[in-house]
Amino acid sequence: MSGLTGEERDLLAPVEREPILAHTLEWAAINSGTANMQGLAAMAERLAAAFSALPGEVRLSDPAPVEKVDGQGRPRAVPHGRHLVLSVRPEAARRVILTGHMDTVYAADHPFQTCDWLDANTLHGPGTADMKGGLAVMLAGLAAYERANSKLGPALGYDVLINSDEETGSLSSAPLITDLARGKIAALTYEPALPGGQMARARPGSGNYAVVVHGRSAHAGRNPEEGRNAVLAAGDLALRLAAMRRPGLSVNPARIEGGAPNNTVPDLAILHFNMRPATSELAAEAQAFIKAAVAEVSAAHEVHMHLHGQVSRPPKAISPATEALYGVVSKAAADLGQPMSWKDTGGVCDGNNIAACGVPVLDTMGALGGAIHSPDEFLLADSLDARARLTALVLYRLDRHGVLPA
Ligand SMILES: [Zn+2]
Repeated sequence: MSGLTGEERDLLAPVEREPILAHTLEWAAINSGTANMQGLAAMAERLAAAFSALPGEVRLSDPAPVEKVDGQGRPRAVPHGRHLVLSVRPEAARRVILTGHMDTVYAADHPFQTCDWLDANTLHGPGTADMKGGLAVMLAGLAAYERANSKLGPALGYDVLINSDEETGSLSSAPLITDLARGKIAALTYEPALPGGQMARARPGSGNYAVVVHGRSAHAGRNPEEGRNAVLAAGDLALRLAAMRRPGLSVNPARIEGGAPNNTVPDLAILHFNMRPATSELAAEAQAFIKAAVAEVSAAHEVHMHLHGQVSRPPKAISPATEALYGVVSKAAADLGQPMSWKDTGGVCDGNNIAACGVPVLDTMGALGGAIHSPDEFLLADSLDARARLTALVLYRLDRHGVLPA
């Protein structure tokens, strides 16, 4: 830790693993699957209590309304939990945003609900790495930064946003993310890094779509020519969309719902698909292609199609300001003796939405771990205090130098 000043050493000295681990275990014991309203309310309450140790006011923000197309092709309101927001020193000249999510991919009835130790350092449990450990790291890093007894005292302003719907695409928190990201010099998001300290760089965008197809039913034997087959049209559209795939653009027709008994020409089908464009140019091209394909297939099959959805995670490109932020974090990690490497990834997260606001974002500031979104999810416990130190040091240096490398 030779690159640290005396003041920085004092800043980091009080960070301990035990309280961070205790928060991680406490929060991982609460099921907070994105659809579990009770669990999310309980999590929000615990988080509000814990984060109220920081200066500023914790509030819970109501989710924006979200609709999803149901099995009958009708848009239905989807309930969401509230999102936690904490604002500290909003008047500060330099402000950052720290984000995380309280939801997990494990539903209330999922068999994976409890933690156990695989070895002295490996904690196996739901949401440990993704990202209750990350939330605990964020809190400990902020607390250390606030305690910093330097000559200047902490001056950086920040907002903390912990949303309740990240795992399903942050549809009910997207307006809040945009609102809070505005005017910030940098963003830190507490998704997990890989066990070797590998951090995510660029990410593609992602959009989920549903096309509702209305045809006309008819008897399969008596008058099939009078029918307009909605399943056939949905299949035709799926093939055309799949043909749009190329380097930098993946398209996954995932499911066709609807249909009718074998003796009937089906008058309803719903095609669900996901699209991941690497750049905003590809996203715009693909969006235009989808519209054109919907129009062509509607005409060819004489059916009505309604297109729902959009690219809700814009592609995350790397700007010079992003490079500068990565430089600050790399240098801090090196000064702390923490291994760190960088890699583009195919996954998406709130970092996509923040980057789209023009704010440089590092979105794998959380704990080290792996096998996320699976019953094998694990967290490396020694990364908890290491990453809290990294957070405190990065905040301290952003406070003094902004995002320009020191
Ligand atoms: Zn996550």
